[in-house]
Amino acid sequence: MISDNIRKVKEKIAQSCERAGRADNEVTLIAVSKTKPVALLKQAYDAGIRDFGENKVQELVDKLPQLPDDIRWHMIGHLQRNKVKYIIDKVWLIHSVDSLRLAQEISREAVKRQITANILVEVNIAEEGSKFGAAAQEAEELVEAISRLPGICVKGLMTVAPYVEDAEQNRGFFRNLKQLSVDIAEKNIDNISMNILSMGMTGDYGVAVEEGATYVRVGTGIFGERDYSV
Ligand SMILES: *Cc1c(COP(=O)(O)O)cnc(C)c1O
Repeated sequence: MISDNIRKVKEKIAQSCERAGRADNEVTLIAVSKTKPVALLKQAYDAGIRDFGENKVQELVDKLPQLPDDIRWHMIGHLQRNKVKYIIDKVWLIHSVDSLRLAQEISREAVKRQITANILVEVNIAEEGSKFGAAAQEAEELVEAISRLPGICVKGLMTVAPYVEDAEQNRGFFRNLKQLSVDIAEKNIDNISMNILSMGMTGDYGVAVEEGATYVRVGTGIFGERDYSV
């Protein structure tokens, strides 16, 4: 069943790529496995998924040793500074950096371990009061400031768009995030790139791909509804 879901999601990504004149290998599907048991992650792995997204440090650290080590783990949730040390050398990419203070902590921990941490700057593109993320107007300054820190490398931008019934309602937000990444790329800031655009979830990943997403983060569409009551 999970393998059927993955096949359908990949088909939809391919269709959106075709509509937008993009190659479908430009888009990587991240299976968002938060709250789901390891057995289901294994099914997704067996169906070919190698990128998994988690939003809680403890859950990520618990699951990681129970699964094959060729998995690329993505930290997609709000990250507290005091927890950076638990995941810094375990994750492929941190999607949710939205302050200089968090970036400074990541930098410190990365330097200590002599690694480079790859990160995305999270932008609250719809300016929702309830969401994390830097304001669009602050993003360039934040990228620039992070670019001067050792041990940390900005690879692009990420956003969590509003929850909507009709994905078309988010098209403008995705377009704005893409434009913001183009604008920042044109500044030619040293030691950064804007190659990654992490946007689109179960309800709107098709539209996000049409607007330039390179990572889509799909949970419900692969694993089914999450049950937070247990
Ligand atoms: C939970 C989550 C997702 C996946 O949401 P679905 O609607 O289940 O696809 C994507 N991104 C982030 C940051 C999340 O927390």
